[in-house]
Amino acid sequence: MLKKISVDKISELAARLMGKGTLIAPVREEAGFNFREISDAGQVDLNFYNTLLSSKSAFLPQKEDFIRYESGQSVQDAKCVELNLKPTFLFGVRPCDARSFEIMDIHFIETGAPDPYWQDRRQATTIFGYAFDLNRPAEPADFYTALGIGAADPAGSDVFMIQKGDEMLLKGITPKGEKILAEIDSLSEASADDLKYFDDTVEAGRSFKTRFMNIDAPAVAKKFEDLFHNTEFWERISDGCLSCGVCTFVCPTCYCFDICDENLFGGGTRRRVWDACMFTDFTLEASGHNPRTKVYQRLRQKVCHKYSYHVRKYGPVSCVGCGRCTRSCPVNIDIFSIVDQALKA
Ligand code: SF4
Ligand code: SF4
Repeated sequence: MLKKISVDKISELAARLMGKGTLIAPVREEAGFNFREISDAGQVDLNFYNTLLSSKSAFLPQKEDFIRYESGQSVQDAKCVELNLKPTFLFGVRPCDARSFEIMDIHFIETGAPDPYWQDRRQATTIFGYAFDLNRPAEPADFYTALGIGAADPAGSDVFMIQKGDEMLLKGITPKGEKILAEIDSLSEASADDLKYFDDTVEAGRSFKTRFMNIDAPAVAKKFEDLFHNTEFWERISDGCLSCGVCTFVCPTCYCFDICDENLFGGGTRRRVWDACMFTDFTLEASGHNPRTKVYQRLRQKVCHKYSYHVRKYGPVSCVGCGRCTRSCPVNIDIFSIVDQALKA
């Protein structure tokens, strides 16, 4: 099903989605764009390249309370924090970020014990993917095409949006996406020309130019295995790293978290918060021993997890080439360049 709406009526579409549940969409903020829960349909702003933070927080909030309790009470009296989810619409997700959810699903749904918080949010959410503008050059840090993701790739989206002049084309990709498009009667039927434009754009997006190198996942994984003990390589690669963790917080496929209890005035909360393997105390053990005291060990962990251990264990590289880590790093450490240097080492 292909529908369309005038671009200047996007806020009307946003209002319709808000009437059906929770809308999360890009908004313009002082530092750049970010996904936020929308309280006023006029906030939705699709004039962005990509957001500063990825949209993973729609499923894995940076901070989330699980349990509340009172000090001195029995553990049976602790109360679970209910999710109370409404249907949710995650609107304007770029193709690389849409693909990241499929990688995250491996960890939160498909292996071991499913994470009910991630799983329930995924089930409640309809993803409106949004093609990059093929008339605008990719940001220099991006390399998603090297990981097999097109600039107008509908994979991972329920509805996929491509702008055609003053109109937005919306195609249902999954039954969930088809359903929501059928329910919004203010959308117009698209023409055969629109359908051709949509298909041509998806195809053109496959040869869109970002930074590129041939990433043969098993070969890259093996290369990093061979380099693991090459301390000179890792010290050079990590030179200048501040262990600030920004690269992991902005990353759509980084999912490390910590669980901590916070007690205040006799009331307690068990809380999940994002953590990062780049932090100095990430691997600090209760004994006081820390197996990764050196910066190079931590950067090696991050890179090898994404490009070696993940490939060996699950198949795909755990990186979608969105370029955020490179754009955000205060000392310009660039994961694409690390992979490139590893392959040439
Ligand atoms: S490692 Fe960097 S380029 Fe890869 S997905 Fe994470 S932020 Fe994007
Ligand atoms: S953003 Fe850069 S400096 Fe900060 S931890 Fe990551 S690689 Fe190191």
